[in-house]
Amino acid sequence: MSSTVISNTATLAKYLDLPQNGKVIAEYVWIDGTNGLRSKGKTLATAPKSVDDLPEWNFDGSSTEQAPGHDSDVYLRPVAMYKDPFRRGDNVIVLAETWNSDGTPNKKNHRYAANKLMEAHKSEEVWFGIEQEYTLFDQYGAVYGWPKGGFPGPQGPYYCGVGTGKVYARDVIEAHYRACLYAGVNCSGINAEVMPSQWEFQVGPNLGISMGDELWMARYLLERVAEEFGVKVSFHPKPLSEGDWNGAGCHTNVSTAAMRVEGGMKYIEAAIEKLSKRHKEHISVYGEDNDKRLTGKHETASIAQFSYGVANRGSSVRIPRSVSKDGYGYYEDRRPASNIDPYLVTGIMVETICGSIPDVDMVTEATRQ
Ligand code: ADP
Ligand code: MN
Ligand code: MN
Ligand code: MN
Repeated sequence: MSSTVISNTATLAKYLDLPQNGKVIAEYVWIDGTNGLRSKGKTLATAPKSVDDLPEWNFDGSSTEQAPGHDSDVYLRPVAMYKDPFRRGDNVIVLAETWNSDGTPNKKNHRYAANKLMEAHKSEEVWFGIEQEYTLFDQYGAVYGWPKGGFPGPQGPYYCGVGTGKVYARDVIEAHYRACLYAGVNCSGINAEVMPSQWEFQVGPNLGISMGDELWMARYLLERVAEEFGVKVSFHPKPLSEGDWNGAGCHTNVSTAAMRVEGGMKYIEAAIEKLSKRHKEHISVYGEDNDKRLTGKHETASIAQFSYGVANRGSSVRIPRSVSKDGYGYYEDRRPASNIDPYLVTGIMVETICGSIPDVDMVTEATRQ
């Protein structure tokens, strides 16, 4: 892979060998004001055993579109901790919620509201599995590995493709997969997608709020790995607006404890019935520019109306064939776009299928300032 990454791996190596004198580095990660990720490192005197050992921290929110300049401190409250595949050893990566100085959750902290719903419906044991699709670009803005000034052959050989010309950037993907497993992110699989240089990884099944936590951490690890290869990651749901190229989604698979055992189909059907009545509300939190993707073509359903079916990849919600045969299992909501905030999506899902709670409304939460 050729790139012009500004780093010198050979020279760096000898510094990475230096002992840390007992100190541990914690890299704090948070969601910024533009649905992107930021991180910064903090030295700890001892290795944290759990997230409770991690101190609160802060950053300049006026530099991340999260606070005004005259009151710029935003606080970082650790919520999850992972092994650091880059620094290794005792070093950790910390996922943090963002909080304003007046004690309210930051406008992009949707985890707090979603977690209230997860806690309220804990007894239902809601599991999620998200399929994150994304597209790789080179530093010059071209789709990674595509012929200069042209296009590869039409879609067909690329999905789960094998062989030169049919698969691109396998090295980046392999590195990311290993990084997830090392970190403790429940990455359950990876595959090349229909459009060349488009890929997917799956996280889950995960219980409740940990779905959002681990999806964000998997995205962080992907951005960091791709950075080392000089490759750009795009989470745009329709990265190429012209031509016959697939968009990118975040299919969200869902089950409750009742759905996962014999007789579960009636609970799956009841959930789908509830979803059909809140289509517009769900679409409003299912990602920006999703209208460019949900066209009714390229294995999607039209954004205009709700539909569902067994084994139908052209519907809003799909019941997998095997689930229909068994009579229990889970369903797949195919509507969420690749650029979702998974806390909004898992939050509204629980709100709709398990029931709303006082003081939380995920539709207004999505645009809270
Ligand atoms: P597809 O056939 O749509 O490409 P994938 O195999 O890519 O499906 O993804 C299926 C997802 O469903 C995975 O993330 C997996 O963890 C998740 N999943 C499997 N069983 C359940 C379940 N009972 N509840 C929720 N999610 C589940
Ligand atoms: Mn998939
Ligand atoms: Mn896919
Ligand atoms: Mn799917």
